This record gives sequence, structure tokens and C-alpha cells, in this order.
Amino acid sequence: MSTLKQRVSGVVGVMLLTGVCGALAGYWWGRDFTLRHMTGKLDQYAERIRTGGDVSSAEGRAVLDELNASTDPYCSDAEIEHFRKLIYASEYLKDGGRVRNGRIDCTAMLGRVTGADARLGQGVTRADGTRFYRDMDLFRIQGQMAPAVEKGNALIVYSPFNRKEFQSSSMHYTVTNRGGDNGQTRLLGDLPLTGNAILTTEGSAQVGDVLYATRCSDRFAFCVTAYATANEALETESGQRTAYVVLSALCGALLGFTCSVAYSRRQSLEQRLRRAIRRKAIQVAYQPVVDLKTGRIVGAEALARWTDAGHGDVSPEVFIRIAEERGFVNEITRLIAGKALADLSVLLPTCPEFRLSVNIAPQDLDDPAFLPMLEQATAKAGVPAQCLVMEITERAAANSQAAKDAIVRLRSKGHSVHIDDFGTGYSNLAYLHDLSVDGLKIDKAFTQSVGTESVQVLILPQILSLAASLGLQVTVEGIETEEQALYFRTSPLPMLGQGWYLGRPMPVEMFLRVFETQERAAAETAALL
Ligand code: C2E
Ligand code: MG
Ligand code: MG
Repeated sequence: MSTLKQRVSGVVGVMLLTGVCGALAGYWWGRDFTLRHMTGKLDQYAERIRTGGDVSSAEGRAVLDELNASTDPYCSDAEIEHFRKLIYASEYLKDGGRVRNGRIDCTAMLGRVTGADARLGQGVTRADGTRFYRDMDLFRIQGQMAPAVEKGNALIVYSPFNRKEFQSSSMHYTVTNRGGDNGQTRLLGDLPLTGNAILTTEGSAQVGDVLYATRCSDRFAFCVTAYATANEALETESGQRTAYVVLSALCGALLGFTCSVAYSRRQSLEQRLRRAIRRKAIQVAYQPVVDLKTGRIVGAEALARWTDAGHGDVSPEVFIRIAEERGFVNEITRLIAGKALADLSVLLPTCPEFRLSVNIAPQDLDDPAFLPMLEQATAKAGVPAQCLVMEITERAAANSQAAKDAIVRLRSKGHSVHIDDFGTGYSNLAYLHDLSVDGLKIDKAFTQSVGTESVQVLILPQILSLAASLGLQVTVEGIETEEQALYFRTSPLPMLGQGWYLGRPMPVEMFLRVFETQERAAAETAALL
């Protein structure tokens, strides 16, 4: 038996293991969440730059049109002064001027220009006929490039500082031209890491370790792609990821704690149950089985009861399941059958009509010692075999040929076999034809559907007529109300009932008192007649 120290170290070990598993799961969830979150952030970033690009492009185009529309003499002082006013009034422009034959002749800020610097160089032709110059030496400021756009005989230069507001430590962007002679070319931003399809198609993508989000302008021929590597994303959101790891580790440890406590509680329950069986400390309660037509008690179902010093009253649903799962339920059956036969040995031999019902488990049917044990117990109590009814659930009875054979052997020895909780296991009632049984106990779920709109109440007449056609004894479980009792009492079939309305499970002394009172009253009535 494990000591308290062993149990505590077992729980701590499980908590550590599940905590580590939780942390690992949290690491991967956190990573996945962070990358998805980053994709959303990139999309917003690309959208912000696209909107900014639309606004500055609109202003640039308008100023270009105004420069081209100038009526002042070409590059005259008056025209330069006129241009200067326009540039000062603009929000995004740094300069603007005149161009002809691939040369800048004058600008608002530089005046008339001569020399090699004034050549326009290689530009990108845009879909709207403008030409874009990404990096002109003439307009560099503090190492920053100032992009310029040419249209007709005019040129505008954007301030490089416009883009400052778009700088981010964890995300990058690139602006790509769409259409025009040069096709898809970079206009602004960092060097793209991917091919053009992603750079000019709206949406999000991941290529290798890099996440991308692209937004394209409806008004101008450009797309903005924001991108970041997975490492950059994970570095920026490391706090969030740590939170995921810690939280998941805690959840894992908590789960481990709950499971191991439940397991050790169950284990200790099993050990306690085994001890209770060894000490014959499992009690039996008797619930009257009543003939619904006459109201007389004609039998009793023996129900196992266990009160544990530590856990209090433990439901048979719980401890029978533990015994079934751990393979020692036959010990309970032996104990209950032996006790019940001994308890009622004063009554059974003198009341040949009385039936004692005992619940048996599927494992009992597989146990070669089961029948000999019954024979021995009935002989010891001096009880005829036909007084004993075996209750077995339909699942256990119908599941294997071995179970069916065992049922046949039980019946050949004179015992009755009833299907317990009938109607809960199989939806098809036809299997009953294959089973050799004496009766069925309609499950309490059906009984409790009487007087309701439930579909189960519609199946009841079908079950009753099937039982009648097969000549089976019907017992109705779980009768709790007068209405339910009346429903079955008025059936033309002979019908037995069991339930709180007719009598709760009770200790043997009480049951014998109730039964004797009934028998005495019946005898007195008979004497009067
Ligand atoms: P079961 O064989 O169907 O027993 C009937 C159950 O319904 C009993 O629950 C009983 O107390 C309960 N009951 C009786 N009348 C009413 C009623 O009017 N309304 C409601 N709601 N319930 C009612 P219990 O004693 O808790 O037993 C539960 C199950 O545990 C039994 O169902 C049986 O399957 C199993 N069991 C009990 N004793 C033994 C045993 O000795 N051996 C085996 N293998 N199983 C047993
Ligand atoms: Mg039963
Ligand atoms: Mg039942």
C-alpha cells in the first residue's frame, strides 16, 4: 500500500510532467498565435502606408498638373517664384520644377539648374504615363533619398521625411509599381524578399520564414507589401509568448494535479472497497417488488449498499463500476447473493411465490464458479432455485454467445433471468427473440416519461405487446407517482412494479416487518370472507 509520502511524490511527479507538456504546448500555441497576430499587424501596417500613399500621390498629381499649366515664361524668375509658392503650400512635397529632354532646367528650391546632376537618369514609367525616379542625387537630404515624379514638362520631388511616420522596428515595407513599361518594380521601401506575385496581389502569405501582407491602391498603380520574419515577430511579442508558456504550464500542472488526485482517490476507493468486501461490510437493501393489480409485495430486489468510513455512502453505480473495471465484481455478487439468501431464508422456503432478485454483472456469466456458488448458496439457505431471479442488463445479455449460453444454463437449473434497465441498451427490440429469458424490467426512464410528451412514452405500448407475445414477465422500475402506477396497472398484462411510490430500498428487518404485516392483513381478510 502506498504511503502518504509516496502518494505526494507521485502527484508532484505527474504535475511536473503535465506542467512540462503544458509548457511545450504553450510554446507552440504561443508561436502560432504570435505569427497569426503578426499577420494581422502587417495587414494594418500595409493599409496605413497605402492610405498615406494615396493621399500624397493625389497631392503630387494635382501639383504636377498645376506646374504644367503654368503660363509664365519657361523657368523664368516669375515661374520659379510661382512654383515655390505651390511647393510651400503642399504637405508632402519638397520641390518641384521644369524638365525637358531628360534634364531638370529649374526647380522652386534650386532655381535654374545646370551640370551633370540635372540629368534625370533611369526612371520607371507608370501606368498613368508619369515617370518615377527613386533615387536622385540632386535631391538627397541627409543620406535619405527623395523620390521624384515627372509628368509632361514638370517634376515634383517628395520629401524623404514623409516616410518617417511609417518606420517600424519589427516590420518592413516595400512599395511596388503595377503595370507601365517597367512592369512590377520597386518604387520605395526596403528590398523585397519575395517574387512579384505576392508584391502585387492583395492578401497575406507566408513564404519560408517570412510573413507578408499586401494592400493595393485603387486610385494609383502601386501596391504596398509589409513583411517581417518569424524571428522578428517572435522577438517583438516575446512577452505574450512567455505568458502563453507560463499559463499553459500552470494549466497542465493543474490538470495533472486534478487527474492524479482523482486517480489516487479512486485507487484508495478501490482498496477500501476490496477491504469492505473481505470484511463482508457491504450491506444489502431490499426494495419491494409489487403486483400492480393486487398491490401485494411478491418479491424484492437485493441492492448493494456501502458506507465507507472516509467517503460516506458510496453509490452502487460508482463502486459496482470500479469492481467491474477491476475484475472483482463477482466477489460482490457472491457476497450479496449469500447475504440475501441468508437474510430471507426465514421467508423464502415458506413462500413459494416470492421472488428474490439479484443483480449480476457480465463477468459473473463468464465465471465458471458462478453457478456452483449459486447452487451452494441456495442449498445452504434451503431455498428452491426458482425463488432466485437474476437481473442482467441487456448489453451484457446480448453481447456474446458465451453470455447467452450461460443464461440458458442458469435457467436449466431453475433460476429466472430478467433483462434489467430494458430499453436503454438497444434501439432494436428484435434481439429479444434470440435471448432465452423469463422477463424484462422496463427502465425507469420509460416510467418517468408517462404523462409527458417524451417519445419514450410512445414506445411503451410496443415494448408491452412484444413482451406479451414472447410470454415475458414485465416489471416496471422507478414508479414514483400514482399516475405512473395507474398507467401500468390498467394494462391488460400481468404487471409487477418497483419504485419509491411502492416502497424504497430498506434494511432486511424493515422489509420483513412490512412483508409480515401485509401477509397478516391478507390472512385476516381471507378469514373474514
Ligand atoms: P438497478 O438494478 O436498475 O436498480 C434499481 C435502481 O433504481 C436502484 O438504484 C434503486 O435504488 C433505484 N430506484 C428504485 N426505485 C426508484 C424510483 O422510484 N426512482 C428512482 N429514480 N430510482 C429508483 P441503486 O440502488 O442506486 O442501484 C443502482 C444500480 O447499481 C442498480 O440498478 C444495479 O445496476 C447496480 N447494483 C446495485 N446493487 C448491485 C449488486 O449487488 N450487484 C450488481 N452487479 N449491481 C448492483
Ligand atoms: Mg436491478
Ligand atoms: Mg434497473
